[in-house]
Amino acid sequence: MRAMAAILLTLLAAISTPAAAKTCRLEIDANDRLQYSKSELVVPVTCDRVELTLNHVGRLPVERMGHNWVLSRSAVFRDLAQDGKRAGLDNGYLPPGDARVLAATGLVGGGESTRAIFDRSLLEPGGDYTYFCSFPGHYGAMNGRLVVR
Ligand code: ZN
Repeated sequence: MRAMAAILLTLLAAISTPAAAKTCRLEIDANDRLQYSKSELVVPVTCDRVELTLNHVGRLPVERMGHNWVLSRSAVFRDLAQDGKRAGLDNGYLPPGDARVLAATGLVGGGESTRAIFDRSLLEPGGDYTYFCSFPGHYGAMNGRLVVR
């Protein structure tokens, strides 16, 4: 009887579970000339999760022309990029465990791709967010706005 009740409860829980979480996919390219392909990315507020793919469409190796995609509040992105430089290549040019990093991919070289997956709820609609590459010397040219609406 008890087992039956447990099974029923499990079934009820399955039925009342809301529709699968909505994942929104974004994509951006980076090249050997310190350029991202987009200066703005828009995340619809209706997304539950965001999956960002970064494609390095250049040819240079990661130690010379590595790129990543790091998301932070705009107010802190320059400081974060400076601290990332000090963190070094072994840490993907990001300070380990830094709370200013809202989302980040790994570093990739030419011909490689990488992804970041994060909850949309980390971001406030109308918030001021900047994405950038934390490879030393890149963030000045490689940055853009991320908008939630
Ligand atoms: Zn870069």
